Amino acid sequence: MELQIKNLKKVFRTESVMTVALNDVSFSVDNGSFIAIMGPSGCGKSTLLNILGLLDNPTSGKYLIDGEEVQNLNEAQRTRFRCGRIGFIFQSFNLIEEMNIRDNIMLPLNNLPLSAADKKQRVEDAMKRMGIAHRANHYPSQLSGGQQQRAAIARAIVCRPGLILADEPTGNLDSKNGLEVMELLSELHRDGATVIMVTHSQRDATYADRIINLFDGSIVENINEKI
Ligand code: ADP
Ligand code: MG
Repeated sequence: MELQIKNLKKVFRTESVMTVALNDVSFSVDNGSFIAIMGPSGCGKSTLLNILGLLDNPTSGKYLIDGEEVQNLNEAQRTRFRCGRIGFIFQSFNLIEEMNIRDNIMLPLNNLPLSAADKKQRVEDAMKRMGIAHRANHYPSQLSGGQQQRAAIARAIVCRPGLILADEPTGNLDSKNGLEVMELLSELHRDGATVIMVTHSQRDATYADRIINLFDGSIVENINEKI
């Protein structure tokens, strides 16, 4: 999918503190890109990714996906857009402990107008593709970290999204499992998805065809000059 981000600003206000998490962030993403977002802790990476994934709203600025201004969607349209066209992967997997793996992966499909048979087939396909079909009836705590992240990726791809967002997807994994997750993301990218990933890892960044460096809420050209 193609994204246009224009003059995005995000301010968090608590009773005593005002934090400008993003300050005038603008960039475009071509269809089929693989982008890495990098920068020091607290610079606004997760805030940016959450806005791109429609999990949060900017304070001001514009965000267009395939030319459509997503701020103009109503709540139901927004949920359908998020569940039907965007896959989100988190550092800490964010699986629901009370649900088995199959039900976790089914979750985004509950918001889509698909037949029960189609939903079931998609869940089975996603589990098979991520190599966790034998764990369908298990609960998240019964799986290793690598398996949990593969289940989380299955949940992210079950709607066959054009956009995959990943916030430090290898951050809680050892090197071997991290590499496997990167190979899976790379495969999804080769199959046509646009991928935007936050990472601290130089190794993971080598999979990207472009790196966006954030510093203190702004995009910077050469981050080494700032640190
Ligand atoms: P990163 O992912 O790069 O580590 P974040 O996007 O999580 O950074 O945070 C950017 C800044 O915004 C930080 O100063 C953080 O403390 C602040 N922040 C993030 N989320 C919230 C929130 N919900 N309420 C208040 N401040 C927040
Ligand atoms: Mg973060």
